[in-house]
Amino acid sequence: MNIILMGPPGAGKGTQAEKLVEKLGLVQISTGDMFRAAMKENTDAGVRAKSFMDQGLLVPDEITNDIVKERLLQGNFGNGFILDGYPRNVFQAESLEKISEELNIKIDAVVNIDVDFEKLIGRLSGRRICRSCGATYNLKFKPSKVEGVCDKCGGELYQRSDEDEETVKTRLNTYVEQTQPLIDYYTNKGELININGDQAMDDVFNDIKTQLEK
Ligand code: ADP
Ligand code: AMP
Repeated sequence: MNIILMGPPGAGKGTQAEKLVEKLGLVQISTGDMFRAAMKENTDAGVRAKSFMDQGLLVPDEITNDIVKERLLQGNFGNGFILDGYPRNVFQAESLEKISEELNIKIDAVVNIDVDFEKLIGRLSGRRICRSCGATYNLKFKPSKVEGVCDKCGGELYQRSDEDEETVKTRLNTYVEQTQPLIDYYTNKGELININGDQAMDDVFNDIKTQLEK
C-alpha cells in the first residue's frame, strides 16, 4: 500500500509515519528529512535547498521532484511507502502522477491529517527530534523519559532551526497558500481520506488504520 500523508506543519505526519512504519511495515519517504540529510552532507540539492528551508519557503519544485523521483527509482519499499510532506503544491501533485506512471507505481490513498491552526504553533515549539534515529518527541505531549535523550537509541534531541516563531508563521502561510489547495485537488479526484488529528496520537493512528483497511 502506497500512501500520501498530508497536513499542515505540526499536524502529526512524522509521528503517524513512525507508527505506520513500525506497525504496517511501510517505508517513510519524507522530503523534509531528505533535505535535512542533504544539507548535512552538503550535497548540491542540500546547498540549493538551505536558503528556502531557513526562510520557511518551499524548495523549488524541480529540486524536490528530482529527489523524490530518485528515491522512488531506488525501490525497496517493504509493504509500501508513505510520502510524508510531498506533494506540497498542485504542480508537485501533477509531477507525482507523471513519475508514478513512468515507474508503474500506484498511490492507493491520500490521508489528510486535520488539526486546528491554533494548536499547531504549540506543537511545533515543543517538537524535539533525535539527531541519530530521527524519532519525534514533544516537550509537552510526548516527552522523552530523560530530558534531551532519545528513548529509542540514546541519541541527542534537538530543536529544528526552522522552528522559531517567525519561520513557523511563514511555514504556516506557505501551507495555506500552496499546500492547502491540494485538499480540494484530491477531494475532487475522490481520493482524500480526512482524519481528525486533534486527538491522542494513538487514536489518530487507529483512525488512519481503520480508514486504510476499508
Ligand atoms: P509534522 O510531521 O506533521 O510536521 P510531527 O509528527 O513532527 O508533525 O508532530 C509535531 C509535534 O506535535 C511533535 O512534537 C509531536 O510529538 C507532536 N504531536 C504529534 N501528534 C500529536 C497529537 N495527536 N497530539 C499532541 N501532540 C502531537
Ligand atoms: P518538513 O520537514 O516537512 O516540515 O519540511 C521542512 C522544509 O523542507 C519545508 O519548510 C520546505 O522548505 C522543505 N520541503 C519539504 N518538503 C517539501 C516539498 N514537497 N516541496 C518543497 N519544499 C519542501
